[in-house]
Amino acid sequence: MSCIFCSIIAKELPAQIRWEDSQWIVFDDITPKASTHVLLVSKVHVGSLAQATSEHAALLQSAIPTVKIVAATLGLEEAGYKTLINTGRAAGQLVDHLHIHLLSGAIQSSL
Ligand code: AMP
Ligand code: ZN
Repeated sequence: MSCIFCSIIAKELPAQIRWEDSQWIVFDDITPKASTHVLLVSKVHVGSLAQATSEHAALLQSAIPTVKIVAATLGLEEAGYKTLINTGRAAGQLVDHLHIHLLSGAIQSSL
């Protein structure tokens, strides 16, 4: 199975990596919709939030704390930021690998 985000995690495709730990990797969105637009991508392949199961409980529990750590790392705590998870085609999910958008500054109004 070919997955763009799995290829980035495997370092087979380049990305501007901002942060990572054992569960999440964070890199710049290739088509930014804000002054800062990074993606928090699970290191394990999960197709979407809808496909996450109890097997992924620890991963999901770490998601919001990870957002807070990354926002602080990027210096966004005071300015503020938006988080977004697209789940499925009706939401506009394009890459079928669980990820959280983190955006700040001049966010496109269509989001
Ligand atoms: P979504 O619509 O939630 O699936 O968002 C997928 C996001 O991945 C989009 O904002 C794309 O711009 C972004 N994207 C696609 N390919 C890459 C890539 N190779 N590196 C970084 N971001 C990417
Ligand atoms: Zn994947």
